[in-house]
Amino acid sequence: MATKKKTTAAPKKAAAPKAAPKAAAAEQKVEAAPAAEVKAAATAGKTDKIKGKGVISGVAVGRILLAGQNLDSFLVNYKAGTIEDEKKKAADALVKVAEALQNNIKKFNDQGLKEQAGILEAHRMMVEDPAMSGLIDEKLEASGSAPKAVLDAYETQAQVFEAMEDEYFRGRAVDMRDVGKRIAKYLLGIKEPEIVGKVIVAGTEIEPSVIAGLPTDKIAGVILGAGSTTAHAVIIAKTRAIPTVVGVGDGIKKMADGDPAILDGETGEILIRPTDEERAIYDEKIKKQEELKAYYATLKTLPAKTQDGQEVILAANIGSPNDVDAANGFGAHGVGLFRSEFVFMGKTDVPKEEDQFKEYKAAVEKCNGNLCVIRTMDIGGDKPLPYIQVDKEENPFLGYRAIRISLQRKDLFMPQLKAILRAGVFGKAAIMFPMVINVKEFLDAKQFVEDAKMELAHEGKDFAQDVQVGIMVETPAAAVMAPVLAKYVDFFSIGTNDLVQYTLAVDRGNAQISYLYNHFNPAVLRLIKRTIESANAEGKWAGMCGEMASDPNAAILLMAMGIKELSMSAPSIPRVKERIRNFTFTRAKEILAEVMEMEDGDKIKEYLTNLK
Ligand code: PEP
Ligand code: MG
Repeated sequence: MATKKKTTAAPKKAAAPKAAPKAAAAEQKVEAAPAAEVKAAATAGKTDKIKGKGVISGVAVGRILLAGQNLDSFLVNYKAGTIEDEKKKAADALVKVAEALQNNIKKFNDQGLKEQAGILEAHRMMVEDPAMSGLIDEKLEASGSAPKAVLDAYETQAQVFEAMEDEYFRGRAVDMRDVGKRIAKYLLGIKEPEIVGKVIVAGTEIEPSVIAGLPTDKIAGVILGAGSTTAHAVIIAKTRAIPTVVGVGDGIKKMADGDPAILDGETGEILIRPTDEERAIYDEKIKKQEELKAYYATLKTLPAKTQDGQEVILAANIGSPNDVDAANGFGAHGVGLFRSEFVFMGKTDVPKEEDQFKEYKAAVEKCNGNLCVIRTMDIGGDKPLPYIQVDKEENPFLGYRAIRISLQRKDLFMPQLKAILRAGVFGKAAIMFPMVINVKEFLDAKQFVEDAKMELAHEGKDFAQDVQVGIMVETPAAAVMAPVLAKYVDFFSIGTNDLVQYTLAVDRGNAQISYLYNHFNPAVLRLIKRTIESANAEGKWAGMCGEMASDPNAAILLMAMGIKELSMSAPSIPRVKERIRNFTFTRAKEILAEVMEMEDGDKIKEYLTNLK
């Protein structure tokens, strides 16, 4: 039963992870089907066809992995002892599950998977919360079964969270249920099978941690019931080139754990329990996919240059230094956006200057002399942190976030700036501020950079004097004021994910209005053009690090506008490069002139799609 009462078992904000993960899945193991097995199983049942929106291309074959498992049949067969026995079993289970979590936390930390480690750390705290053991004992008096009591206790607590006004706490309900289930499974003796083949991870919502928590070579694909192209789970899937389909809605209900499935990240088609004939059609597509991959590999060392000699830098968006290795594999020339907030996530406290320095230094070094643009933390909006208290906000995306927090929290900002300046000694680093809306914010932030240099000099630490300092242009205000801002900054990087949502008043994560979210909307194109031209007029460079940069058709327009760098999830680099190499700059400028005369974003999109 739902209860509105806040029990003492509610963990403190600091105890909960910032992302509401179905995080048990972060270390969940399922038996997945090898391709041959998918084929065999396919003949047994009827195919369910589901259509969503393909957002990361590629054909995936594997078994469905739904976060969550129905425990009802196990509970029915469970043989309970006396109340005292059951209490002891529950207490032992709490200890054992906490130990298992601790082992996994260590494993993730050793692999540099800090976000995942942080989430499990929060789960461990939920297991060890003394108030929960009291609640389990209470429930045991009623049910007489340890696993049932555990599930009841965590369910009660999840419902307490769900009834809270604070969206952050509401999001923690899923964690409480995960933790309860984990403990109940231990009590029921349910062992998670090892993943043998590949899985297609499916869920109404999948938190970034779930995808990040499974090894890349085990995830064939991702299916989201809700979600959008700019959801952070999708952004992580992009970094790993995992074929993904979003917006399947209730289609998720047609899938069961272990179902063989095929997903087409291009068309958005999903086949659950495909027949042999259907499978054969996709085998052909997979073959073509492999051929394309081999062709793309040949482009790796070639420049992104049009046939008449216009070149643009193609860089990568990353969330951790490890991503640079993968990016280099796709031929990235440096990093155009290091989302440094990932360094801040999964922690219970602010990461120290020294810890941050190590991360930034590693990323800068891996860029091999190419520029590494490190964005100062973009916390708030859809990325809250447990140790930064933000009062409940009606509109978090318009609230206390990004540079607004940094400018008020010297204790957070200074260590980060110092760490970046120090990392600059080991290669070429740049500092980029997010969400800037006026000149004053930039100048204030720049003053912090100068103060950071002074402090470092005073402390006798080495740092780079010549680190470029620029801003994201992701608010309409910044784009409108670009001619003025360009006088002060070293560079602009256009963040279309936010620029589109703020310009069009269309939430980037709302699937219901996603048809309005179009980076080719003429209002957006005018702001982008203005920004690029303003930078060029002042002899500064403008790049783009929003998702639009990974659209090959957009790349043509952006080059014609005078953009100097496009930064994207690394697997998109070959596709964009191929488009550029098969085009001429002259033709691109003609197309831009035509597009700027057009009045409708959908028509522009269609026109560019049909271009030869
Ligand atoms: C953007 O807004 O375009 C951007 C790159 O930043 P983020 O997606 O992290 O908000
Ligand atoms: Mg942004």
